Amino acid sequence: MREMTYCMECGKELPEDAKYCSQCGAPVKVSEWEEFQTSTDDLIRRVKELVREGNVTRIIIRNEKGETMFEIPVTVGVIGALFAPYLAALGAIAALVTRCTVAVERRQ
Ligand SMILES: [Zn+2]
Repeated sequence: MREMTYCMECGKELPEDAKYCSQCGAPVKVSEWEEFQTSTDDLIRRVKELVREGNVTRIIIRNEKGETMFEIPVTVGVIGALFAPYLAALGAIAALVTRCTVAVERRQ
């Protein structure tokens, strides 16, 4: 799966590391990250809420050591039918650890 971002000005799909839009030349804005800790009992509910918020572009689940366990690129497809396999994977993570850190990338 290729990581993509979108131009905030014209909406063109761009490579994740793009600094400027190849179509309109607008600088690509840096997205905002926030992190919170949660118990894995709550993890699936929190992730579902984030996906519904609509401006979230990526969700990363880290364990207590700060190691990335799972990454969800929140695309239109993921919000729809493709979300179920991610929820199954989150369930597997919840069985392994009791607390985790959720890092959320938001489109501004
Ligand atoms: Zn553009």
